[in-house]
Amino acid sequence: MDLHHVLTLLTPTSWLFDEPLARHTTFKTGGPADALALPASEYEAVALINALQKSGIRHMVIGRGSNLLFTDAGYRGVIVKILDNMSDISFADDVITAEAGCSLSAAAHLSMKRGLSGMELISGIPGSVGGAVYMNAGAYGSEVKDVFLDAKVLLTDGSVVTYDNEAMKFCYRKSAVSDRGGVILSVRFKLFFGRSENIIQLMTEYTRRRKEKQPLDKASAGSTFKRPEGFFAGKLIEDAGLKGYSIGGAQVSEKHCGFVINKGDATSTDILRLIEHIQNTVLKQFGVMLEPEVKLIAGS
Ligand SMILES: Cc1cc2nc3c(=O)[nH]c(=O)nc-3n(C[C@H](O)[C@H](O)[C@H](O)COP(=O)(O)OP(=O)(O)OC[C@H]3O[C@@H](n4cnc5c(N)ncnc54)[C@H](O)[C@@H]3O)c2cc1C
Repeated sequence: MDLHHVLTLLTPTSWLFDEPLARHTTFKTGGPADALALPASEYEAVALINALQKSGIRHMVIGRGSNLLFTDAGYRGVIVKILDNMSDISFADDVITAEAGCSLSAAAHLSMKRGLSGMELISGIPGSVGGAVYMNAGAYGSEVKDVFLDAKVLLTDGSVVTYDNEAMKFCYRKSAVSDRGGVILSVRFKLFFGRSENIIQLMTEYTRRRKEKQPLDKASAGSTFKRPEGFFAGKLIEDAGLKGYSIGGAQVSEKHCGFVINKGDATSTDILRLIEHIQNTVLKQFGVMLEPEVKLIAGS
């Protein structure tokens, strides 16, 4: 029996084999994964991930792929994608329960329609709820931590536990799950009732700011680097004279130097080489080592 058969026997989950990861990342680069699974429910996700864990098959969970850079060699193992396939959402008073694959922006927009406030500033982050909690995604001084109530998490020993805000140990672009491993299955956010007009106004204003400042018409993974203590990555890159600098199809955005963009035909190697070039140039000129915010995933 080959790997395909073993995998398809694990659960009724949908499978794609030799699937190009460029189709599953916002950078639109990355070679093929041996297999990509799309569990249709929490039950399927738990069964599948526990089976992969027990069989010792290399695997990784992704959401929208909006903070990931896979190499051109792809990924030897199984990618478990939790996005539209697991995206139910429900409301009870001022608490939202969202499956991990629900988009953060959909959760924010549906909340807005119910007059619920709290997610306006983070509503433009293009990831899934699971990816946003994992990363403690944030924008304009607000972060997921501010509205997070608790989450159901599948641990590596196969148990499912509930982590509250304290247990999640959020800090800058980090959480207990990014530190210790585990899979976020669903999340509860605690919002508060506000005036619909104010919520809409705030969301519109922050969407406008994003469109004005960020190259949203180009493939990217958002800010390529973490904010270095006491500096802004984009400003350092611009001051180093790298605005518009290209390697192959990868370019430092002319609109926002903190973003590396794919001009259309970039490979992951182009992007990686450009990231290294930016790091070396900024280190040489300003003595600051930029640390990638984008997660670089090894092929094997
Ligand atoms: C145009 C653009 C703008 C952006 N703006 C912002 C911004 O303002 N602020 C910000 O913080 N980020 C921003 N980002 C980056 C990105 O959207 C966030 O980091 C987002 O939270 C990633 O979510 P995702 O679903 O895409 O996760 P992925 O990129 O798919 O995965 C990121 C990490 O989360 C893990 N993960 C994903 N889902 C789960 C799960 N269910 N359980 C456990 N682990 C999981 C993955 O294993 C991986 O390690 C931007 C990206 C783009 C393209």
